[in-house]
Amino acid sequence: MKIVEDRDEARTFLRDRREMGETVGFVPTMGALHEGHLSLIQRARESCDRVAVSIFVNPTQFGPKEDFTRYPRDLPGDTEKCRRAGADLLFFPRTDALYPEGYRTYVTVEDLSDRLCGASRPGHFRGVATVVLKLLQIVRPDRLFLGEKDYQQCVIIRRMVRDFDLEAEVVICPTVREPDGLAMSSRNAYLDPEDRKGAAALHRALTEARKIFLRGERNGEALRGVLTGVLSAEPRIRPDYIRIVHPETLKDVKEAETGSVMALAVWIGATRLIDNMTLGSS
Ligand code: AMP
Repeated sequence: MKIVEDRDEARTFLRDRREMGETVGFVPTMGALHEGHLSLIQRARESCDRVAVSIFVNPTQFGPKEDFTRYPRDLPGDTEKCRRAGADLLFFPRTDALYPEGYRTYVTVEDLSDRLCGASRPGHFRGVATVVLKLLQIVRPDRLFLGEKDYQQCVIIRRMVRDFDLEAEVVICPTVREPDGLAMSSRNAYLDPEDRKGAAALHRALTEARKIFLRGERNGEALRGVLTGVLSAEPRIRPDYIRIVHPETLKDVKEAETGSVMALAVWIGATRLIDNMTLGSS
């Protein structure tokens, strides 16, 4: 596995591979890698000749009061995980290389970026879209692998790829969970043991509501009531939003249907966790 900090070196390495007729899969991450990230690398390996992974804790997607400085970082551990997962390139650019003095250009995917997480994290998706576009320009992958855990991010990046006529195919991969259902996340490391136990309520709420949907309930408010009920039984959880939305527009739906998405964000202490589930899926 080649380990590269320099943008031009990464670009040249991948350009050479492409010129040899090899396809490139790309997995962008912020590091502190877990099984969820590794599943994306695995998936990329299955369909591409080469796999590039980036690790970059992107400052422009964090709000001023958010966890940028304390976000978990473990480059040695991550390097080993990438190597074992079979990545060909690990790209870890420096912040001042991607955002040098005088940097002024940002991408806004309108409307979609203001909904759900965007409402509580103003500017977050502007930072995400900007860094993903920058990374795509460097890596120029045939396929971009994203995790469904960050559902809104998937919708926004897919929209940007279409709107900017980018060539990468966006591949959305299923959420990898802990045995009790908690979606794996680098931020789970912030949870103390009691918080960690309580965090299982997110997935429990989603599976309960899905059960009711499968029994025939279509009313959005009724389904939201189930989600709210399960979450509010957990004293450590403070909901940020509990929504049932259209899978593409992310607008609330009054009547749920197969394909509608239940999306949750909650606070547990100082940690914000998200999860989602598509209705009708088993
Ligand atoms: P992050 O490092 O949190 O920016 O995540 C990098 C990529 O991994 C994103 O596409 C995430 O959606 C994806 N990802 C994070 N957690 C999971 C998970 N539990 N299962 C699948 N993909 C995930």
